[in-house]
Amino acid sequence: MNKVMEELNRSARYQRRKAAETPHQFKELEASTLFCLKCKEAVPVREKLLLVLTDGDKYDYLCTQCGSPVGSKTTKEDTPMQFVIK
Ligand SMILES: [Zn+2]
Repeated sequence: MNKVMEELNRSARYQRRKAAETPHQFKELEASTLFCLKCKEAVPVREKLLLVLTDGDKYDYLCTQCGSPVGSKTTKEDTPMQFVIK
């Protein structure tokens, strides 16, 4: 019986650890919120692939409220993520 409880506890702990990983994903979502000059507030942005280059991809970030570009990102092989705010 004790053995079963131990197993249950272990799986419960595992579940909790899985839940603790979730804020990580939220953090990434927060990173996709940028300040829009037109809306004059931080807005959720849409990532739009602009160019596919041989050494990386260029993305534009568009405001989900007014659609104006609020930033861009270029991914490169040597520098995984370069973030440029216009
Ligand atoms: Zn906007």
